[in-house]
Amino acid sequence: MTKLSHSAVDRYLKCPLSYKLHYIDKIRPTTVSANLVFGNALDKAINCLLLKQPDAHKVFITNWLNTEINNTLVYIPKSELIQYNKSDIDLEILNEQDWLDIKLYNSTLENSSDLESIVNEVLNLKKQDLNSNQQAIFNFLSWSSLKRKGELIIDAYAEKVIPRIVEVKSIQKEITFENDKGDKITGFIDLIATLDDGITYVLDNKSSRVKYKPQSVQESPQLTLYATHEDISKAGFIVYVKTIIKHREKTCVKCSHVTDNNRIKSCPNIKNKVRCGGDFTEVMTPKVDIQILLDDVNKELVDSILMKYDEINGLINAQAFEPNTESCNNWYGSKCSYYNLCHNNDDTGLIKS
Ligand code: SF4
Repeated sequence: MTKLSHSAVDRYLKCPLSYKLHYIDKIRPTTVSANLVFGNALDKAINCLLLKQPDAHKVFITNWLNTEINNTLVYIPKSELIQYNKSDIDLEILNEQDWLDIKLYNSTLENSSDLESIVNEVLNLKKQDLNSNQQAIFNFLSWSSLKRKGELIIDAYAEKVIPRIVEVKSIQKEITFENDKGDKITGFIDLIATLDDGITYVLDNKSSRVKYKPQSVQESPQLTLYATHEDISKAGFIVYVKTIIKHREKTCVKCSHVTDNNRIKSCPNIKNKVRCGGDFTEVMTPKVDIQILLDDVNKELVDSILMKYDEINGLINAQAFEPNTESCNNWYGSKCSYYNLCHNNDDTGLIKS
């Protein structure tokens, strides 16, 4: 008999050997992806909004300051154990206080260089070429940028999603599928809610760098199963896009003419048949795009998904843990964290928990 989480099933499908290393041998990377920690902090803040509790921002920051990695409490901004991507950094959305904090942190580093040069180096070098100071600033810049992105996402969720929800039926509901042999698959439904169209949906909150494809709900095995379990025929993704939209507004210092035309360099305003030609001051307003993707659940998928689960349970019980080398260099866009162990018998960067 097995009891699998949905993410365990996903891992087995991607590479059975990875499933064994992770869940049976309990070998874990010493580092963790920023996406995962950021997503968890955001989920907690969004749950506050859904439950109409105050302090969603505070909850987000608390969970984005400290986290547990392999049973050790870690202070995220200065930790070497969080793996960021270059795309996490967005200097334009940092505020004055962020820059003061970054400057202060830089001054505490051994042999610190001036902030401007180190930020330029960080932005222009490849991640693997950063020295320890550059890496520390890279991490701090990424953490600060994601902090601002998180706050913008919470505001956008409050503005665009919450008003559409008429009734929250449940959040983070645990559900279990059991076959006739007693094997179980468990999962958590982010949100079941009735929206302003009067329809009840099974909903999944996702943060992503890009919008989801229109057919994503119909193709999602997870949403299909969750909705079927709840006897609900509609489902949806609420996608908060981490790439920030920047609305720029220019005001002429001479005549106060306002424009959002980014291509013009001087004021085009005509007064008394004369072009103003004044310089602009520019204000940038960052915004988050939220995609609410709703659709019917594709019930035809259910039988094949349940059969697949039975098959995976059978294979795990039979200890079938073959490597799938197609995933080695393509683990959600990165290299698999067990790459060195599998290919070079080198366990650097891994820990047995
Ligand atoms: S390195 Fe390749 S074979 Fe090894 S666990 Fe990862 S995906 Fe599987």
